[in-house]
Amino acid sequence: MVPLFPPVSSSVGMYGPDAEPLTEGPRFVKTERMRRWHRVRSGVRYCTGRTVYHLWCQGAVFDDQFLSKEAVPADAEVCGPCDGRAVGAGQEPEGPAGRLLVFNPRDNELPGTCPGSRKERLTLAIPPGTVGQCLACLDLHPVRAMGGPYDPRNAITRHAPGAGLVTPCPFHRWKYLEPSPDGALRCSCGRTLREPAPAAA
Ligand SMILES: [Zn+2]
Ligand SMILES: [Zn+2]
Ligand SMILES: [Zn+2]
Repeated sequence: MVPLFPPVSSSVGMYGPDAEPLTEGPRFVKTERMRRWHRVRSGVRYCTGRTVYHLWCQGAVFDDQFLSKEAVPADAEVCGPCDGRAVGAGQEPEGPAGRLLVFNPRDNELPGTCPGSRKERLTLAIPPGTVGQCLACLDLHPVRAMGGPYDPRNAITRHAPGAGLVTPCPFHRWKYLEPSPDGALRCSCGRTLREPAPAAA
């Protein structure tokens, strides 16, 4: 168990006089649906007997839902924001060294769907027209009519990013990809993300 911080709330209606702030809680918690172990910032026991633990990374778990541990195996994923904040706030003296901290800022993750998916301007149709090359990742996928009456287009189907996925713009990632006729791929901000194809000799 580790000492917990007070469950400070900015809303008066949130906790009545029957709610009891907990001073101690488990070191690591996770529900069955969570991939990583999280850390507990504060806890409250309600008069119904139900306990809720608030996590350092936001969110909360209820006592009938979570698994808890005092130590996790070295290869278990631990939520980096949780562990960093818990240790940084002095919840325990020992640092997170030796734990596999994980934090994926959403903007920096590789997308699950290629940014060229379903975009006509990023589809290079290859005659006779049922297959196209994705200009974002260079993979070949079927081309279909899609979009319905208000946005009709022939575009490459949804696919996972291929190995040739273009290096993203450092500012706008893959949001504004603009192919140009010379074969280059640019971001709308003007940065060249993929050089033009070398001219055939
Ligand atoms: Zn967390
Ligand atoms: Zn693609
Ligand atoms: Zn850009």
